[in-house]
Amino acid sequence: MKKVMSGVAFLTLLFGFSGTLAAQQSDLDPRILKLVQSVSEDRLTAILKKLESFGTRSTLSSQDKPDRGIGAARQWIFDEMKSYSPKLQVSFDTYMVAKQGRITRDVEVRNVMAVLPGKSPRRIYVSGHYDSLARAGGQGAANAAAAPRDPDAPAPSPVDPNAPLDNVAPGVNDDGSGTSVAIELARVFSQSGIDFDATLVFMCHVGEEQGLLGAKLHAEKAATEKIRIDAVLNNDIVGNDKGGNGIIDGATIRVYSEGPEDSPSRELARFVQRWGARYVPSHTVRLMARPDRFGRGGDHSAYNQFGFPAVGFRESRENFTRQHDVRDTFEGISPAYLAQNARVNAASAASLALAPPAPVVNSERGGQPMIGRQPSGYDANLRWTASPGAVAYRIFWREAWGPDWQHDVLVGNVTQVNLPGMQIDDFVFGVAAVDAEGHESLVAPYVTPVRPGTPVKTVPPPGG
Ligand SMILES: [Zn+2]
Repeated sequence: MKKVMSGVAFLTLLFGFSGTLAAQQSDLDPRILKLVQSVSEDRLTAILKKLESFGTRSTLSSQDKPDRGIGAARQWIFDEMKSYSPKLQVSFDTYMVAKQGRITRDVEVRNVMAVLPGKSPRRIYVSGHYDSLARAGGQGAANAAAAPRDPDAPAPSPVDPNAPLDNVAPGVNDDGSGTSVAIELARVFSQSGIDFDATLVFMCHVGEEQGLLGAKLHAEKAATEKIRIDAVLNNDIVGNDKGGNGIIDGATIRVYSEGPEDSPSRELARFVQRWGARYVPSHTVRLMARPDRFGRGGDHSAYNQFGFPAVGFRESRENFTRQHDVRDTFEGISPAYLAQNARVNAASAASLALAPPAPVVNSERGGQPMIGRQPSGYDANLRWTASPGAVAYRIFWREAWGPDWQHDVLVGNVTQVNLPGMQIDDFVFGVAAVDAEGHESLVAPYVTPVRPGTPVKTVPPPGG
């Protein structure tokens, strides 16, 4: 039997729904909304076509031809970002790398970085890698060669890991797409007129395809110089919405982050999902509880190695036959999809850069989480150190078996709360700092911390 909804029920639903929407709208900062909306599909398209025009951006390609190779590409990126605003401090981040592995001769490598100074030196990165690679058969052949196979079957033809260096390697999606996000956001942020609390860094890495070289060298230097990096949003292969298997998905993006489940990178991933969804509700962030795809690596892992929170944005449906191949051209790009991914980056980076730093929840001595059972011995007592700029705090919790925060409550300008009768062993708790305009920091979880600067043991696979 068909059930007919009564007029009253329908109205309640309708008003209930619009009431919720209105409440959420008022949470949003109109300056961030404007910034997100100013991400331009046309600009992204123009950047990609320019990057493609260099023929190859192999790390080992020509450094001195005016319009072909890595030298011409990096100079164009430098000049382009420099042209956006006098507020942007654009520089080459230069290293000499000796012959090793996929680096077949001594070479000078340069990341291109644009810094938008904030009130605080703590940094938030938006990045991609501008170097490109093409090899026989592309990533499709590489995947096939790496797959487990019947030992009696004939071996597949070997994949040349270092095809001739001036080969055409358009690299429009891998990783012109991520590079275009970093470049376009340098424009949008520097021209927004917003004074951010955090310092933003728009970073175009080099040498990703030779083992995350540029990112590793930069992350190592940042760790040595004790530079505080709160977040790295790395974009690598984010411009195509048509899977090689025919499945099309232009409405979602994957975000990979290393564990354990309350690692700084996982908190960053949750932040991207929470704030990306608010400012770009037409796009869905799919969190992936693993460092990256099978057998593939990206520059975010280089930052993780040096203890920095970093996540990897990856399109939802990849076309492997175009990757690392002469077919990685502009024809394989969906500019509208790329723009949506850029907007999620913009919303996340702007929200984070306007928010106070996360509260400190670990004791100064011993570094243990400041959580206890006081006053009854069966309550949750949470303490933290105040964050500069915070006027309130939001407490988050979830059952100890589950990936996403399930509940949250806003508390005032305090540095301690009691949640009566909540057994601390059964929940994961966290706290975020909130400023007067409602900008929220990353959530600081009450867990035994991963010490920053401690290199993790796992070695990420070389670039891809
Ligand atoms: Zn890549």
